[in-house]
Amino acid sequence: MSTLEIRDLQVAVEDKEILRGVNLTVKSGETHAIMGPNGSGKSTLAYAIAGHPKYTITGGQVLLDGADLLELSVDERARAGLFLAMQYPVEVPGVSVSNFLRSAVTAVRGEAPKLREFAKDLKNGMDALSIDPAFAQRNLNEGFSGGEKKRHEILQMELLKPKIAVLDETDSGLDVDALRVVSEGINRFRATGETGVLLITHYTRILRYVKPDFVHVFAGGRIVEAGGPELADKLESEGYEQYTKASA
Ligand code: ADP
Ligand code: MG
Ligand code: MG
Repeated sequence: MSTLEIRDLQVAVEDKEILRGVNLTVKSGETHAIMGPNGSGKSTLAYAIAGHPKYTITGGQVLLDGADLLELSVDERARAGLFLAMQYPVEVPGVSVSNFLRSAVTAVRGEAPKLREFAKDLKNGMDALSIDPAFAQRNLNEGFSGGEKKRHEILQMELLKPKIAVLDETDSGLDVDALRVVSEGINRFRATGETGVLLITHYTRILRYVKPDFVHVFAGGRIVEAGGPELADKLESEGYEQYTKASA
């Protein structure tokens, strides 16, 4: 049982104040959706939690099971059980998907998984996400389609088994089939009850497949409304205008 606790988090980027006091608690087994208009600071929240150097914490706390995450390096955060799927993953020429994933598992566990065990987990994960076996030998993110990038993110998550997974715009750029496969991956994963999921999205579409337990509306760098899954339905019909007016 794990808990991510974000308390009054304030974050600036290049001296510009972006997050203005975010409060949120995510526990294992819970799925929280963060929804909001473009530019409201959703990705800033994800990067700040992950420890991206461009994002300066100007106030507040982020605790994972009571320990201060903000004191940890990016690697240490991953070892502590945090997983971040990025909106814009980087290309790494010369590193295959398979090697990358094995290194990532090694880094997080603190020891290399046995080759046979890893190969089996990798194959099962790829099968479940309908990923072609040849994909494992391709260079990381090089020429990946939108759908391949997202499937790869979910594959990473399944292999790393984080305590808390932050998925930023996992649904963007996916066609309906890929969206279903990716959503099924997230659902399979959350069904274990061992991971808390923070699903950040601009669109309500993915929430038809991945039913959140809680929905938070983000506007102007803070949470302006919170509710259950019904809030996503309301956003789908009414949009974000009501919130952007209020926070402007
Ligand atoms: P969202 O993910 O909700 O679309 P972002 O967190 O990407 O919002 O952006 C929030 C605000 O912070 C925007 O005004 C954006 O221009 C600014 N911002 C975010 N990241 C950076 C950055 N690396 N450099 C400069 N400005 C940034
Ligand atoms: Mg954006
Ligand atoms: Mg974003």
